[in-house]
Amino acid sequence: MSDTIFSRIIRGEIPCHRVYQDEHVLAFLDINPLSEGHTLVVPKEPAATMAELSEDAAAGLGRALPAICRAVTKATGTDSYNLLQNNGSAAGQEVEHVHFHVIPRRAGGRGATGLSVEWNAQEVGEDQLADVARRIARLC
Ligand code: AMP
Repeated sequence: MSDTIFSRIIRGEIPCHRVYQDEHVLAFLDINPLSEGHTLVVPKEPAATMAELSEDAAAGLGRALPAICRAVTKATGTDSYNLLQNNGSAAGQEVEHVHFHVIPRRAGGRGATGLSVEWNAQEVGEDQLADVARRIARLC
């Protein structure tokens, strides 16, 4: 994969507002936040998408995420937040290096979010659900 801006931040070549770091993970503020405290949690391993991430890097990411979520929400005074993780351009991924967005949510005022989620559920039959479940399960 090509070198991304996040790899350059991890190597210290570009500055960031760091909030957490360990062997596997760096977390820093998003430069264009959707709300106060919008944080990016990035594995140091330079995989483009979750499906390409090694088990070790994924385990490190999973271990760090809950504490970072607790810190972000406590520091911004809310108990609501979205975890957003885009994979691929059709899913809105701009930086091709795995990252979770931690986005604090509030109804209004300071900390209100610029995030809007449309959830247009599709009507599907039992047969369609069973068919796609079988196809996925075979590959897991
Ligand atoms: P995504 O669309 O999921 O790939 O999100 C990429 C995010 O990275 C966007 O929210 C950007 O604002 C953020 N971003 C890009 N460059 C930087 C940077 N130098 N420092 C912090 N955040 C950045």
